[in-house]
Amino acid sequence: MECEICGENIKGEATTIEINGTIMNVCPKCSKFGKKVFIKKDRENRRPLVQKTTKNVIDLKEELVSGYYEIIRREREKRCWDQKDLAKKINEKESIIKKIEKGDISLDDKIREKLERLFKIKLTEPIKDVHTHKIDNVKRDLTLGDVVNIKRK
Ligand SMILES: [Zn+2]
Repeated sequence: MECEICGENIKGEATTIEINGTIMNVCPKCSKFGKKVFIKKDRENRRPLVQKTTKNVIDLKEELVSGYYEIIRREREKRCWDQKDLAKKINEKESIIKKIEKGDISLDDKIREKLERLFKIKLTEPIKDVHTHKIDNVKRDLTLGDVVNIKRK
Protein backbone atom coordinates (compact mmCIF):
# COMPACT_ATOMS: atom_id res chain seq x y z
CA MET A 1 0.00 0.00 0.00
CA GLU A 2 1.22 3.45 -0.87
CA CYS A 3 0.99 6.47 1.37
CA GLU A 4 -1.75 8.72 0.09
CA ILE A 5 0.31 11.81 0.87
CA CYS A 6 3.90 11.15 -0.10
CA GLY A 7 3.39 8.05 -2.19
CA GLU A 8 5.92 5.99 -0.33
CA ASN A 9 5.39 2.30 0.13
CA ILE A 10 4.05 1.63 3.56
CA LYS A 11 5.64 -1.30 5.32
CA GLY A 12 3.22 -3.00 7.56
CA GLU A 13 -0.06 -1.36 8.42
CA ALA A 14 -0.98 2.04 7.09
CA THR A 15 -2.01 4.71 9.52
CA THR A 16 -5.46 6.06 8.96
CA ILE A 17 -5.73 9.77 9.52
CA GLU A 18 -8.28 12.46 8.92
CA ILE A 19 -7.33 15.70 7.24
CA ASN A 20 -10.13 18.24 6.85
CA GLY A 21 -12.71 15.50 6.90
CA THR A 22 -10.90 13.29 4.42
CA ILE A 23 -9.83 9.87 5.54
CA MET A 24 -6.44 8.85 4.25
CA ASN A 25 -4.15 5.90 4.62
CA VAL A 26 -0.69 7.22 5.13
CA CYS A 27 2.77 6.18 6.19
CA PRO A 28 3.92 6.72 9.78
CA LYS A 29 5.87 9.80 8.75
CA CYS A 30 2.81 11.52 7.25
CA SER A 31 0.49 10.48 10.02
CA LYS A 32 1.41 13.67 11.90
CA PHE A 33 -0.40 15.75 9.25
CA GLY A 34 -3.79 14.67 10.41
CA LYS A 35 -5.80 13.27 13.22
CA LYS A 36 -5.49 9.55 13.77
CA VAL A 37 -8.74 7.71 13.33
CA PHE A 38 -9.56 4.21 14.20
CA ILE A 39 -11.76 2.41 11.80
CA LYS A 40 -13.42 -0.55 13.35
CA LYS A 41 -12.85 -3.70 11.50
CA ASP A 42 -15.83 -5.48 10.08
CA ARG A 43 -15.20 -8.45 12.28
CA GLU A 44 -15.69 -6.35 15.37
CA ASN A 45 -18.80 -4.74 14.01
CA ARG A 46 -20.61 -7.90 13.31
CA ARG A 47 -23.21 -8.59 15.88
CA PRO A 48 -23.86 -12.07 17.07
CA LEU A 49 -26.92 -13.61 15.59
CA VAL A 50 -29.88 -13.37 17.83
CA GLN A 51 -31.02 -16.77 18.78
CA LYS A 52 -34.56 -17.85 19.14
CA THR A 53 -35.33 -18.30 22.73
CA THR A 54 -38.03 -20.44 24.09
CA LYS A 55 -38.65 -19.89 27.71
CA ASN A 56 -40.41 -22.50 29.68
CA VAL A 57 -41.94 -21.14 32.77
CA ILE A 58 -42.51 -23.91 35.18
CA ASP A 59 -44.55 -23.14 38.19
CA LEU A 60 -44.06 -25.76 40.76
CA LYS A 61 -46.87 -26.10 43.17
CA GLU A 62 -47.28 -28.63 45.85
CA GLU A 63 -50.45 -30.40 46.58
CA LEU A 64 -51.42 -32.82 49.30
CA VAL A 65 -51.30 -36.35 47.99
CA SER A 66 -54.66 -37.95 47.68
CA GLY A 67 -55.43 -40.20 50.58
CA TYR A 68 -52.86 -38.51 52.75
CA TYR A 69 -54.91 -39.33 55.85
CA GLU A 70 -54.74 -43.03 55.04
CA ILE A 71 -51.00 -42.74 54.69
CA ILE A 72 -50.80 -41.08 58.09
CA ARG A 73 -52.93 -43.76 59.67
CA ARG A 74 -50.93 -46.55 58.02
CA GLU A 75 -47.64 -45.04 59.16
CA ARG A 76 -48.99 -44.68 62.67
CA GLU A 77 -50.28 -48.25 62.81
CA LYS A 78 -47.00 -49.58 61.45
CA ARG A 79 -45.38 -48.18 64.54
CA CYS A 80 -48.15 -49.54 66.80
CA TRP A 81 -49.04 -46.10 68.05
CA ASP A 82 -52.56 -45.08 68.83
CA GLN A 83 -53.85 -41.65 67.91
CA LYS A 84 -52.97 -40.37 71.36
CA ASP A 85 -49.35 -41.47 70.96
CA LEU A 86 -49.10 -39.75 67.63
CA ALA A 87 -50.67 -36.60 69.00
CA LYS A 88 -48.06 -36.53 71.76
CA LYS A 89 -45.19 -37.04 69.35
CA ILE A 90 -46.10 -34.06 67.27
CA ASN A 91 -47.45 -31.96 70.12
CA GLU A 92 -50.99 -31.82 68.87
CA LYS A 93 -54.34 -32.70 70.35
CA GLU A 94 -55.62 -36.22 69.93
CA SER A 95 -58.84 -34.80 68.51
CA ILE A 96 -56.91 -33.18 65.70
CA ILE A 97 -55.24 -36.48 64.80
CA LYS A 98 -58.67 -38.11 64.77
CA LYS A 99 -60.02 -35.49 62.44
CA ILE A 100 -56.99 -35.61 60.20
CA GLU A 101 -57.12 -39.38 59.88
CA LYS A 102 -60.77 -39.22 58.97
CA GLY A 103 -60.02 -36.53 56.44
CA ASP A 104 -62.39 -34.21 58.28
CA ILE A 105 -60.04 -31.30 58.38
CA SER A 106 -57.52 -30.30 55.83
CA LEU A 107 -53.98 -30.83 56.93
CA ASP A 108 -52.37 -27.76 58.35
CA ASP A 109 -48.94 -27.09 56.86
CA LYS A 110 -47.28 -27.07 60.27
CA ILE A 111 -48.80 -30.40 61.25
CA ARG A 112 -48.02 -31.83 57.83
CA GLU A 113 -44.38 -30.91 58.18
CA LYS A 114 -44.23 -32.47 61.62
CA LEU A 115 -45.78 -35.68 60.33
CA GLU A 116 -43.48 -35.75 57.33
CA ARG A 117 -40.47 -35.41 59.54
CA LEU A 118 -41.74 -37.98 62.02
CA PHE A 119 -42.61 -40.61 59.44
CA LYS A 120 -39.91 -39.59 56.96
CA ILE A 121 -42.49 -39.42 54.23
CA LYS A 122 -43.75 -36.82 51.88
CA LEU A 123 -47.39 -35.88 51.97
CA THR A 124 -47.31 -33.50 49.08
CA GLU A 125 -46.60 -33.93 45.45
CA PRO A 126 -45.60 -31.33 42.95
CA ILE A 127 -48.06 -30.29 40.33
CA LYS A 128 -46.41 -29.25 37.19
CA ASP A 129 -47.97 -26.23 35.67
CA VAL A 130 -46.00 -25.51 32.57
CA HIS A 131 -46.57 -22.47 30.47
CA THR A 132 -44.55 -22.17 27.36
CA HIS A 133 -43.86 -18.68 26.23
CA LYS A 134 -42.28 -18.45 22.87
CA ILE A 135 -40.20 -15.35 22.74
CA ASP A 136 -39.58 -14.69 19.14
CA ASN A 137 -37.36 -11.68 18.74
CA VAL A 138 -35.83 -12.74 15.47
CA LYS A 139 -36.75 -11.90 11.97
CA ARG A 140 -38.74 -14.59 10.35
CA ASP A 141 -36.70 -17.58 9.29
CA LEU A 142 -36.11 -18.14 5.65
CA THR A 143 -38.93 -20.11 4.24
CA LEU A 144 -38.67 -22.36 1.25
CA GLY A 145 -40.31 -19.60 -0.78
CA ASP A 146 -37.57 -17.14 0.12
CA VAL A 147 -34.91 -19.61 -0.85
CA VAL A 148 -36.54 -20.11 -4.23
CA ASN A 149 -36.72 -16.33 -4.72
CA ILE A 150 -33.04 -15.92 -3.91
CA LYS A 151 -32.09 -18.58 -6.40
CA ARG A 152 -34.15 -16.91 -9.11
CA LYS A 153 -32.33 -13.60 -8.74
ZN1 LIG B 1 3.74 9.45 3.62
